[in-house]
Amino acid sequence: MSRQVVTRFAPSPTGMLHIGGVRTALFCWLFARKHGGRFILRIEDTDLSRSTDDNIRIIEEGMAWCGLDWDEGPIVGDPGQWKGPHGPYRQMQRMDLYKAKIQELLDKGLAYRCRCSRETLDERRKAVEAAGKVFQYNRGLDAGRGCADANHDASESAAIRFRMPTGGDIVVADLIKGETRFPADSLDDWIIARTGEGPGEIGVPTYNFCVVVDDTHMEVTHVIRGDDHLNNTPKQIPLFAAFGYDLPAFAHVPMILGADGAKLSKRHGATSITEYQAMGLLPSAVRLALARLSWTPKIDGKAVETAEEELLTDEQMIQLFDLADCQKSAARFDMDKLQWLNQKLIQRASWQELEPHLRSFMPAEWTVKPDAWKAQAIHATQKGKSLTDMAEALRFAFERPATFDEKAAEKFMTPAVKPALREVAALADYNHDRLEADFNAILERHSLKTKDLAQALRVALCGKPVSPGIFDTLILVGREEVVARLERWL
Ligand code: GLU
Repeated sequence: MSRQVVTRFAPSPTGMLHIGGVRTALFCWLFARKHGGRFILRIEDTDLSRSTDDNIRIIEEGMAWCGLDWDEGPIVGDPGQWKGPHGPYRQMQRMDLYKAKIQELLDKGLAYRCRCSRETLDERRKAVEAAGKVFQYNRGLDAGRGCADANHDASESAAIRFRMPTGGDIVVADLIKGETRFPADSLDDWIIARTGEGPGEIGVPTYNFCVVVDDTHMEVTHVIRGDDHLNNTPKQIPLFAAFGYDLPAFAHVPMILGADGAKLSKRHGATSITEYQAMGLLPSAVRLALARLSWTPKIDGKAVETAEEELLTDEQMIQLFDLADCQKSAARFDMDKLQWLNQKLIQRASWQELEPHLRSFMPAEWTVKPDAWKAQAIHATQKGKSLTDMAEALRFAFERPATFDEKAAEKFMTPAVKPALREVAALADYNHDRLEADFNAILERHSLKTKDLAQALRVALCGKPVSPGIFDTLILVGREEVVARLERWL
C-alpha cells in the first residue's frame, strides 16, 4: 500500500512571513488536501541569531489568517504545545534527536570532527584558488585532506562535517523542474553541526541536516519548497542515503518576481502577508491569486480562460491542483489581478462570509450591531474593491460628519429642499419599502427630483454627496441619529 501523502511548510522565523513563503505553503496545502494527506507546519529556528518568538507568532497567525490550516505543528501562540504525533515542531526543541543522529553518523565514520578555523579555511581556499582550482573542503583538491585524516582527539571543540560521496552525479528528480544533475565533486563535505560550546560537545546542527532528519521522522513524502533550495537538495540526498532513509519526492517552486522582473522586495510594495491582510484583502483572494502565480489549472485538459473560470473556489483548486501544471520559471506578481479577484470574491460572498473579515476593520460598536443591520451594511457596500473600502464607505454609520463638503452643501442645500428635509426628519417608519414610498411622496409634494433630495440628505448625514443607496444610508444611520444630524440644516 502506498504511504499517505505528507507535505510540510518549514519557514525560518527570521523575519516577516513573505508572500513567496505563503505561496509555497499554499502549494504544500493544496497538494496534501488533494491527496487526502497531512500538512505539517514546522518551525526551523536553528539560526539563533535571527530567529525570534515574535516572528514565530507572525508566521503562525499569518498562516491561520490565510486559511492554511495545518494538521500537525505548533499551537498558535503557545511555544510549549503542539498537535500531531511527531512533535515538537520547533527544531530547537528537537536537539536530542539531532544529536543522537549525528553521533550515529560519527560512530559509522560517515561524519567527522573538523577543527579548522575560519582563518585556516580562508588560507587554504586562497592557496587552492591561486592554483586555478575551486576550493572544496576535503574533496581531495586541497593537499592536506584536512581533519578527515587527522584523527584528532574527539574531546576537542569541533564542527562536524558530513562525508559526501565523490565521483559521479547526484541527480535531483524534481516534480516541477525535471531532472537536475550535480557533479558530486563540486560539493563540499558540508558542516552538519556547528562547533560546540565545550570540548567534545556537538553544537547546533545546520539546516541541511535537520531538514533530512525531520522530513524522515515526520514521514514527509513530498518536499515542496522554494527553488532557492534546489542547490541544497544534492547535499541532502546523500544524507538520506547515509541514514538508510527513503528519499521523499521533491518539487521546487519558482520564485515570485515583482512586476518589473526583479526579485519581489519591499521596493515593489507589500511583501509580507500581514501587509496584505491590512490592505483589506480576503484570504480567499490571496490564496487564489498566489495559486495562479506559476500554476495553470486545467479543466478537462483545457487551461482556464474566462473570468468566471478564474474564480476558483478552494474545493475546485484542491480538485484541479497538479504539480505537473506548475511552470518551471519565475512568475511576476500581479497586484491588479489580486485586487480584481478580491473585488469579485467580495461581490460573490454572503454577508456572513464577509463579516468575520470585515470586523477587524470596523469600529468597536460594530460588534454590538444586530445581524440584520450588519447584513444591510455589508450589502450596501459590497461593490467595494477591498474590506478597507467597505469600512471607509460605512464610516458615516458610526461617526457624525466633522466637516462638510462646502461645494456640495452650496449646491444641494437649496431653500427648495429644506421643507422636504423637514418632512424626512419627521418620518417614523424605517422599513426600506415604506421609506421609499414616503420619500417618493415627499419628492412629488415638493416637485423635486430624487437626486436633489438624496444628495442634500447625504451632505447632511455623511458630510459629502457620496454614500450607499439613500434608503440604506437612512436605515444605517438610524432614525434618531438622522433627526439629530438633520437639525442643523433645518
Ligand atoms: N527553512 C527553510 C526556509 O525558510 C525552508 C526549508 C525547506 O523547506 O526545506 O527557507
